[in-house]
Amino acid sequence: MQPRDLSSHAAYEAGRGIEEVARELGLDPDSLVKLASNENPLGPSPAAVEAIREHAGRVNTYPKASHADLIAALAERWKVTPEQVWLANGGDGALDYLSRATLEPGDRVLVPEPGFAYYGMSARYHHGEVSTYRISKDESFAQTAEGVLEHYDGERLVYLTSPHNPTGSTIELGDVEALADRTAEETLVVVDEAYGEFADRPSAVELVEGRDDVAVLRTFSKAYGLAGLRLGYALVPEAWADAYARVNTPFAASEIACRAGLAALDDDDHVRESVETAREAREYVYERLDAPTWESEGNFVLAEVGDATAVADELQRRGVIVRDCTSFGLPDCIRITCGTDEETRRAVAECNEILREAAG
Ligand SMILES: *Cc1c(COP(=O)(O)O)cnc(C)c1O
Repeated sequence: MQPRDLSSHAAYEAGRGIEEVARELGLDPDSLVKLASNENPLGPSPAAVEAIREHAGRVNTYPKASHADLIAALAERWKVTPEQVWLANGGDGALDYLSRATLEPGDRVLVPEPGFAYYGMSARYHHGEVSTYRISKDESFAQTAEGVLEHYDGERLVYLTSPHNPTGSTIELGDVEALADRTAEETLVVVDEAYGEFADRPSAVELVEGRDDVAVLRTFSKAYGLAGLRLGYALVPEAWADAYARVNTPFAASEIACRAGLAALDDDDHVRESVETAREAREYVYERLDAPTWESEGNFVLAEVGDATAVADELQRRGVIVRDCTSFGLPDCIRITCGTDEETRRAVAECNEILREAAG
C-alpha cells in the first residue's frame, strides 16, 4: 500500500529556524537574528501568554465555549454575523476551509506569482488546479484589477494578497470591487490580509457586506505574535452561513489558541507597538540598506541584492537569517522581516558589508 500519486504536490518549505541554523553552524542560538518568517520580534501579546498559562490546566475539555466566544468577539470587531467568521487552525487552515467549501474536483484557482505557496497547495489537496497571474517587478509589483483580469479565465477562487508577501505591495479596495464585479458569479475573490494590521488602509471586509463574492483572510500569526499557536480565520459572505458547520474540522482551533486569541484581541497596546516597530524598521531599511528596496506595507521589506542565495547564505554565516526569494521566482531578492531596532540595524549593517565586499 502506497499513498496516492503526490507528484504534483510540492512540499512546503518554511523559513529556517534559529535552532536548526545554530546547530548547523555550531553557533549559540542566542547570537542569531531570525528575520526570515515575518514573525513578531516583540514576541506574543503578554495578555495572551497570561491566558495560555491560566487555561493550561483545562485542556482536558474540548474547546466549545472559548471557540464560540472568540467567534463572537471577532464578529463584533468586524461588524459581521458570527456565522461569517470561519475560525481555523491558522490562516492556512482557513484557506483549506475555503477550498473545501468551493472546489469541485478539477476546479481552478488563480493565484499571484510570486506569491504565497499555500494557496495552490490547498487547492491541490482539494483536487483543484492552479493558474497564476503575474505581479511584475517591472511594474514595481503593482496590483490592479486589470492585471489580474488579464489572466482570469473563470477560476472559482481568485487570491489577492494585500499587503502582498513577499513584495509588500497592496491593492486598492476599488480594484478589489472592480475585480469582483467583472469576474463570474461563481468566482469568489479572496483578499488575504495576513499583514493587514501593518498597512494604513481599510480592510476589504467592508466589501464582504452586501456581496456574496468577496471573502477576507486574517491571522493571529503576524501582528499578534501568535504564529506558534496556529490561529486564523476567514470572513465570508453572509449568504454562506451554513457552510462552515459542514466543512470545518471539529475543534481545529484549540482551547489554548482560542483563549490566547481572546486575550490578544483586547491587547491593543501590543498590536500598536508591533505595528510601530515594523514601520520604523521599514524606514530604516529603505534609508540605510545599500540596495534597491520596494515600499512595503507589511512587516518585511524586499531588497534587490544581486545573487540572493549567495547573500542570504553569507548573512546566515554571520548570524542573520533572512528569506532568499529565489523560490518565489525572485533570484536577486531577499526579504528582510522587520526586527527590533537592534536586530534590524544588525541585519542592515551585515548586509551592507557583504554587498560592499561583493562590489569590492
Ligand atoms: C503568514 C501568512 C498567512 C497565514 O499564516 P498562518 O500562520 O497560517 O496564519 C497567510 N497568507 C500570507 C500571505 C502569509 O504570509
